[in-house]
Order: sequence, then structure tokens, then C-alpha cells
Amino acid sequence: MNHRELRRTFLEFFAERGHKIVPSSPLVPKDDPSLLFTSAGMVQFKPYWAGTVEPPYRRACSIQKCLRASDLDQVGRTPRHHTFFEMMGNFSFGDYFKDEAIPWAWQYLTEVVKLDRNRLWASVFEEDEEAYDIWVKNVGLPEARVVRLGAKDNFWGPAGTSGACGPCSEIYFDLGPKLDCGGERCAPGCDCDRFIEVYNNVFPQFNQLPGGAREPLKNRGIDTGMGLERLAMVSQGKKSSFDSDLFAPLVREAAQILDTEPDDRNRQMLRVAVDHTRALVFAITDGIIPSNEARGYVLRGILRRALLFAHRTGAREPFLYRVAGAIIEHMKQWYPELAAKREQAAMIVKSEEERFLRTLEAGLERWQGLLERFRSGDILPGGELFKLHDTFGFHIELVKELAVEAGLELDLAGFESAMLAQRERSKSRSTIDTAGAGALDDALATEERWHDQLEVEDVELDRFAPLAGGDYELHLSRTPFYPEAGGQVGDTGEIEGNGFRLEVTNSYRSKGVPVVRAKLLAGEVAAGPVRARVDVERRREIERAHTATHLLHATLRRVVGDYVKQEGSLVEPGRLRFDFASFEPLTPEQVTEVERLVIEQVLADKPLNRRPDVPIEEAKKAGALALFGEQYGEKVTVVSIPGFSAELCGGTHLRRTGEIGSFIILSETGVAAGIRRIEALVGRAAV
Ligand SMILES: [Zn+2]
Ligand SMILES: [Zn+2]
Repeated sequence: MNHRELRRTFLEFFAERGHKIVPSSPLVPKDDPSLLFTSAGMVQFKPYWAGTVEPPYRRACSIQKCLRASDLDQVGRTPRHHTFFEMMGNFSFGDYFKDEAIPWAWQYLTEVVKLDRNRLWASVFEEDEEAYDIWVKNVGLPEARVVRLGAKDNFWGPAGTSGACGPCSEIYFDLGPKLDCGGERCAPGCDCDRFIEVYNNVFPQFNQLPGGAREPLKNRGIDTGMGLERLAMVSQGKKSSFDSDLFAPLVREAAQILDTEPDDRNRQMLRVAVDHTRALVFAITDGIIPSNEARGYVLRGILRRALLFAHRTGAREPFLYRVAGAIIEHMKQWYPELAAKREQAAMIVKSEEERFLRTLEAGLERWQGLLERFRSGDILPGGELFKLHDTFGFHIELVKELAVEAGLELDLAGFESAMLAQRERSKSRSTIDTAGAGALDDALATEERWHDQLEVEDVELDRFAPLAGGDYELHLSRTPFYPEAGGQVGDTGEIEGNGFRLEVTNSYRSKGVPVVRAKLLAGEVAAGPVRARVDVERRREIERAHTATHLLHATLRRVVGDYVKQEGSLVEPGRLRFDFASFEPLTPEQVTEVERLVIEQVLADKPLNRRPDVPIEEAKKAGALALFGEQYGEKVTVVSIPGFSAELCGGTHLRRTGEIGSFIILSETGVAAGIRRIEALVGRAAV
């Protein structure tokens, strides 16, 4: 059966049995920060079994987009490993159970897909007599082909130490005795290639309590998964899923793009290219952009692996972006979102290819040099690994794979410490840049009042130190001066003490402690009680720019796309600079539209809500935007503008959007590969 028929018949089969057909959820799990990518059909239904959310339907079926990078080094080397794959599944939430699920699975495979029933086997959890009896008595599968397996293979969950869990039953397809490993008991569950698992039925029926005791689950039910790639492979009589109609036409197209043949020499490279580009296309469409962290890092690693394989067979130019176009053509019928992001996906893939191709050649030469210096069994030093990673863009996962091929070991501890040292270096560099002279290094307690006070009296000037040039760095026990952070510049103002006056020229943190830099205007500086006052007009102009930055960020996500991510910002009196990841310049129409939408929010004069001490998970669940690359503690502050924007933000803001007054975009330019910059004026400066 071709993959079109498999998709259609699977959903039809279960719709006829009362299942709601539910569309695939995105590859980025919406409410589950513990997951990097959606990796199974059940992810979007999780709360329905636990009963924390009332299920809107009791039966569902879906074909879910999934991404797994844990076996990346296997893809292309085996007949059935993939990064991106589609998982078909039928689900019951407190509705039908094993009595229906097992016979339906059997019926679909044997009567609809018409797999040879003599080549199908089943496995059950060794203690699950119920499932065993259903297979033998109801379905009529010979006892010899029902295998009892232990908890490792046939008991699912709980995720973590408590929660939903239960036994499962798998259906295997026998690829034939030729692939038998020759082991005495070669059967489903054996590690060899003879028996391939096609359909897994999980029976979540217990709730495991912390401590290990199990009670019945509130909504016991059914959770199944069947990889479309594997089903296509066995139903089309292929030995590899890459030979099924999901991949074979694309492998041929990739060969044409490279002007080569899918022969023995190129086959692996072409399979890797197609598999990896599928992952890239679907991930980018769902808003993930290659980068150096988390999901973006995984994506970048996938792309680089594909380029490395292609380079070995002579490819020297970007080509994955053209494979991406072919994939979108093949898949858009089932995933219309692909067509909408076609140009964007191609552009992102191409610019990522160009980026790596700049260092790939030199990196491989470096690697070749290592192969000459080290022999099989040697350990490659951590410094060399770091160099490959940092200078040539060879992710450590990729180097590991190359090392396995060459029989070399890696000094991973040495690599980790080199990475750590680099992080420390860049941290201390930025401390010098932003934290001024650092003349005061004691751990000092500070009452931070910049959110609610612009002037304080009777505060202790408890520490001061002279700086080069006649200025002073000093610390107040209670301070109204906002120290530069998160792009917002530091406050200025005045300090008046007993017989002296200081002009505050900047505020920042020194070793984490808020301090100010000041110029002596009169008298002699002395420790003791002082009065401190922020330059209120200037602070207002800064806040106009900061609040406008939040409006701009939210607006760009509406006008350009929700993949827009803040890469950096500078908030100064009356002006702002906003950098974001995007691959195309804004059109003049988009610039006008952005301005118009921001102004609309200004005119709507909405209140700003500042909520401190929100647990970070709660904030993310509520959809608050986290700054790209920024680290946050367990508790965060959420600044929101009702119905428009919510961001994690420690800066200071206006009380209402109307106080911004006016807003003009000065320019929209590119500052680096894939990074755009908007500069804008607000308040008086924009009049
Ligand atoms: Zn075997
Ligand atoms: Zn902010």
C-alpha cells in the first residue's frame, strides 16, 4: 500500500469506530518544557489520561509529526532510523480498552493493509494475562507467536518516578529467516534485524505513587503508535524504509540536484540528506531556527551532519535548500503549513549551509591532520576537540561519530573544561564592558527601590572608592538608580550628603551589586546619610523606549511571523535598537504596518502589569516571551500589556502605553547573517 493510502485508511478505519481525527500538533510541545521536541502522538493528549483536563472527546486518532535526534549518528547507517518521522496512533481516554484495541490493531494490519498474517507476531508484558488471552483466544494468534517480555520491553512509564503507567503489547513483522541472527531464541525482542516492531499498543492503567505503590488510573485507556515509515516499508515489501515511497522519490530527486546517481557510493549520503532535510523543513516551519542553543543547536547539528556526508562524495555547494523544496512539494498536501513557509525555509537552510561551508573544508583538513598524528585506540585531546567545535563548527556529536569511524577515543572531560573556560572568558569580558571599574568588591546588601521610588532620603552611602579621572564609584544601602541590564541603560541623577554634592553619571552592577558612578560637584565625599534623586525626565524617556520595545517585539511577531526572536536590544532615552532573527528584510509595507500597530497600542493607552516572583514554568506556560539566550532564575518578573504582549523582564516601564506619546521607525537593516535591526525614536525625540 502506498503512503497516501496508508494515511487515508488508518484515519478512516478509526473514524468509523467513533474516533475524532485530530491534526498533528507542532514539533515544539506547547505545554511541556521538559521535552525538546514532540516525539510521539500521545504528547498532545497527555493531560487527558491523568484527568487534569476534561477530554473534549473520548476517542481520537492522529498522524503526528515527530522529531528525535537521540540516534542521529545511526541515521543513514541502518535501514530504519530517522530524525523526522510520522507517528500514526489511536487513543482512548477512559473509554475502550484492551478488548477493542488489540483486535482493531490486528484487523487494520491484516484486513486493510493486508499484511501477511503468518508473518505477524505479538509481544505482551509477562504479567499481562488479559492481553495474552485476547491475542490467543479472541484474535486466534498461535501461542507460539505470542511472546512474553519483561518490563524493559513491555511496560511503559511512568515518566519520572510517579504518574500514569501500564503494560504494552507490540505487533512485530517478520522480515524473514535470512535476517535471523542465528541465536537460539531469535524472536520479537531480539536485537537483530529479523523482527521489526510496527504497532505498539500501550495500556495506561495505573497511577504510580511516589514510593512505588500503584493505584488504578483515573482515565485508564489506550495510547498507540505506529511509525508510518516502517509500515510503508513492510507493506511495500522493502528491507529499508528509505526504499519505501516516502523516501525513494526524494532520494532520486536529491541525486538529480547533485547531478549524481543513487548508487552504492552515494546512497548513504543521499539518504542522510533527505532524512535530515525533512527534519529541517518541518522544524523551521514550526518556528525553530538553527542556533547555538537547545532546539536550534540540535537543528544546526542535523544540517551540518548532512553537509559533511555530502562533502565526502564531492558536494561543495549548498544544495539542501533545493532538497527542501522537493520535500515541501511531496508533503504539502498533508501539511499545508509547509507551503506557506516555503521561501523562508529555503532561505534559512541555504544561509545555514553557506555558514558551515565557510569552515567545513578547513575543519576537515584539521581532522585529517589529527588522523595522521593519532592512531586507532589513541585519545584525542580535549583542546583539539574544542578547536574543531569552536573554530570550525564541528559539533562534538559529529566529532564523536567521526572518531568512532576512525577507532579513536575522545577526551570529553578535557573538551568540557575547555568549553567552560571559554564561557568564563566571555563572562568576564562582558563584566568589564558593562560593570565599569569594579572598584568596590565587597558583598554589600542593597535595598532595590528603582521600581517604586525615584527619590530616597536618609539612605547610607556606605562604601565609596575613587576612580581614575576624579570620579567615584559608590554604593547606597537603598537605591532608586536602575543599574544597566537587559538592554536598558543605567540611571543618572544626583546625590546630596553632609557638605557635598555628586552628579550620578551611570548606574550598573559591579560583581552583582548595584553601584553608581558619580562626579564630585562640591565638598568632600564622606560615608553617611545622603539623599539621592534620579533624573526623572531622562528615566521617563528611557521607559518610553523600553515599553515601546515590548510593543515592537509583539508587533513583529504578528506582522513578520511568530518565529521572530529578540536577539538583543538597547533602550536609551528617547530611542531604541531592536535586533531579531529573521532572514528577509521587512518590506516598506511591513515597516509601515509595524509602525501603525505600535501607534494603535499607544493610542489605546493600555495599562502595564508588572508581576514579580512568578515561577518560571508558570510564566512560560502563560506564553510570556523569554529573551533569547538569557538565563532566568526560578522566579521571574512578567511584564504584560493586556491582550498584546507578555515578556519576562526586569526593567522599568511606563504605567500606561499612552505615555509613549509617539513612535517612529528610523531604519531597518541587516547586521549579521540572519539578524535584522530596527532603530526607532519615541516620545519627544520622535516629534
Ligand atoms: Zn535475532
Ligand atoms: Zn523588557
